[in-house]
Amino acid sequence: MAQLTPYCQVCIVGGGPSGIVLGYLLARYGVEVTVLEKHGDFLRDFRGDTVHPSTLCVLEQCGLLDAFNRLPQQRVHHLSMRFGDEQLPVIDFTGLKPFDYLALVPQWDFLDFMAEEAKRFPGFKLLMSHQVSGLIRENDQVCGVTGQGPDGDFSVRATVVVGCDGRDSTLKRQLTLPGTNIGAPMDVLWFKLPRKPKDPEETMAIIGAGHMMVMLNRNDYWQAAYVVPKDSDGEWRQQPVEKFRDAVGGTAPFLADRTDAISDWDSVKTLQVAVDRLLRWHQPGVALIGDAAHAMSPIGGVGINLAIQDAVACANILGKAFRNSEPIDDDLLAKIQQRREAPTRLIQRFQQQIQKRVISRVLAERGSPPRPPAVIRWLLKSRRVRNLPARLIGYGFRREGVETGLF
Ligand SMILES: Cc1cc2nc3c(=O)[nH]c(=O)nc-3n(C[C@H](O)[C@H](O)[C@H](O)COP(=O)(O)OP(=O)(O)OC[C@H]3O[C@@H](n4cnc5c(N)ncnc54)[C@H](O)[C@@H]3O)c2cc1C
Repeated sequence: MAQLTPYCQVCIVGGGPSGIVLGYLLARYGVEVTVLEKHGDFLRDFRGDTVHPSTLCVLEQCGLLDAFNRLPQQRVHHLSMRFGDEQLPVIDFTGLKPFDYLALVPQWDFLDFMAEEAKRFPGFKLLMSHQVSGLIRENDQVCGVTGQGPDGDFSVRATVVVGCDGRDSTLKRQLTLPGTNIGAPMDVLWFKLPRKPKDPEETMAIIGAGHMMVMLNRNDYWQAAYVVPKDSDGEWRQQPVEKFRDAVGGTAPFLADRTDAISDWDSVKTLQVAVDRLLRWHQPGVALIGDAAHAMSPIGGVGINLAIQDAVACANILGKAFRNSEPIDDDLLAKIQQRREAPTRLIQRFQQQIQKRVISRVLAERGSPPRPPAVIRWLLKSRRVRNLPARLIGYGFRREGVETGLF
């Protein structure tokens, strides 16, 4: 078995938003870090593209904002919902400080960008096409990982292993940490449609009877998420794809002239929505963050940003301990969970309420599209009211700041 690095201080499993940002921050603090990512590139177009104000703050603190702004992106100041022919603005970022928008950047561009920035630091090592499959343990303590790479089996030894390997985390399975499954009433059918110059500009959710669709403006095309009841994609896929095209055109009539771009069922991906949370995020020598510790519902597009907030907290705690030669023990790793569990719970509770009160009702409706009560429509006339959900999803409950300066 090839030993890739004789030793590194932190081995990060998974190069998604939490893993790459954690790798960047730790390397910036002067920690020797190795990130292992199982895919050969970051080209996954199905995990969301939202860079929220909380992440923009992190980029600014790291001096990366100007470079980030040069990436192709759209800035979203408002989000609205369409109920039949009525359009209702529901979320409004305008007036929020320091950032009054969320940026939509393809996730692969964002991860490429962060990885390139991280490579400027001598302690950063990113190994693509390296899939972790096991943990090395000595004296009841995790002290490295094993896996398979392009040149065969490998092992990496480290003082700490951080699992950033997403909601199907291999590390979580191996550690058999206790967890709670919150669940979700829906799955998502994910596909693209061409965008035409006269189409609406804004990112929006369209509510129908028994279904809803979220449309993300990606300049020359729409990324669409058609929300269906949990585990019902099999029923859809038994039907001719024309049925699905008609459903999409019926939900968003301005798209009806181009639904034949959905050539067959292969061009529609099913994304299983999961919401869960570990009760314990760590064991001696290993901690989990991001979706590995708490899978998020796509509601509010908060998962990436919460994962990045976890990464900032984790880097602050580990970075300082390494710098001050403090013991990296289980008590230290527990601090990551202590810091991040409450904001995660609160956001999941918010998502749970929306799932129960809005999504489940919409999916169960068989008549005409449900409309919000008059009092909600009246309240949403106020920008201050629309600012509340914008603040919640944009900045979250406990904003993490990058504490340790450059090494
Ligand atoms: C349908 C849907 C839409 C969503 N839309 C949004 C959105 O618009 N905005 C938003 O903020 N969030 C969204 N989310 C949630 C978001 O995708 C996650 O919360 C976020 O990606 C979590 O980041 P992460 O780094 O923790 O994990 P992930 O993004 O899942 O990254 C995990 C990484 O680990 C790698 N990996 C896995 N196993 C191994 C292994 N054994 N060895 C090595 N590498 C491994 C994977 O290849 C991957 O790169 C959505 C989720 C769903 C299901």
